[in-house]
Amino acid sequence: MSDTGVRERETVVIIGSGPAAWTAAIYAARAQMDPFVFEGAGSRTMIPGGQLMFTTEVENYPGFKEGVMGQDLMLEMRDQALRFGTRSVWEDIVEVDFEQYPFRLVSSTGTEVFADSVILSMGANAKWLGHPNEERLAQSGGGVSACAVCDGALPHFRDQKLAVIGGGDSAMEDALYLTKFAAEVVIVHRRDEFRASKIMAERAIADPKIRIEWNKTVTDVIGEETVTSLTLKDTVTGEESELEIGGLFVAIGHTPNSAFLEDAVKLKDSGYVETPIPWRTQTSVPGVFAAGDVMDDFYRQAVTAAGTGCMAALEAERWLAHGGNGSS
Ligand code: NAP
Repeated sequence: MSDTGVRERETVVIIGSGPAAWTAAIYAARAQMDPFVFEGAGSRTMIPGGQLMFTTEVENYPGFKEGVMGQDLMLEMRDQALRFGTRSVWEDIVEVDFEQYPFRLVSSTGTEVFADSVILSMGANAKWLGHPNEERLAQSGGGVSACAVCDGALPHFRDQKLAVIGGGDSAMEDALYLTKFAAEVVIVHRRDEFRASKIMAERAIADPKIRIEWNKTVTDVIGEETVTSLTLKDTVTGEESELEIGGLFVAIGHTPNSAFLEDAVKLKDSGYVETPIPWRTQTSVPGVFAAGDVMDDFYRQAVTAAGTGCMAALEAERWLAHGGNGSS
């Protein structure tokens, strides 16, 4: 056994720590598969627990009629999995070899793990606009963030004019959240209608603290120590303008955390893990299953992630009960 608690050969290794991962762990632990979870090492835009760690109130997770805080929900799921004997460590998996069996995985600290089955549930990560100043100021704490719920309450955003980029539910949620602290919130969207659900879009449009810049793209992020303005381009007229701001929140979607898999399993062009059989979590490699946002580019909800986590654990259990890949 390594000092992480991982054994020489595990029955099931689960990668991730969002609703999909913990639900898979709960089911696997109760099925006496003794799961080991690699929760992730954490980064500036992703902490173990997944995207719900960046959310305030979750009102659409069944069983909580008054809503539940995202972090509380994740900690409850984690505790539930640990209560049934799940073992876990805060490390990333950085390398996999699914051509050999048992499957071989290597963690960010160099721990080598062999597993009879694997559940991929690494979730997805925030996308950035891609301007050099955006990255620099995000890394230096210069008023640029991809997570309003994590950073919005920081003192330097108080009573400022803040920009939120995007037109989806994340942008609406971030903008509405930021109205608690900001003097004004400006949503900058590249089209003339929102992608967000009707209810969220209507809430944002109706909010007196929110103004919307329609048909605008961000051509540059300006600021030395801290962000001071954005250069915008009108997508219809081509006209350029400057928007002075005291903070920038980028909410333009997510990228699945599948890069380290390389070609170990089949990925879609968008990078999401392919699960070729409808209503199954089996990937292109028998014995390797995928659940949650790393395979779901359509629903992307906590409850669907949890559902697919359950499916993955049941499939892994049945696959192993039917002899796995037959080699030892
Ligand atoms: P999303 O639905 O993919 O929306 C991304 C938004 O960013 C779109 O409006 C898109 O513009 C814009 N965008 C993308 N790339 C851009 C770029 N390079 N420059 C400028 N704008 C760009 O992502 P999301 O809002 O993160 O939502 C993801 C999923 O989570 C959705 O299914 C959503 O319903 C769900 N969600 C739900 C809640 C909730 O229920 N409370 C909260 C957050 C998220 P276009 O519209 O022009 O493509």
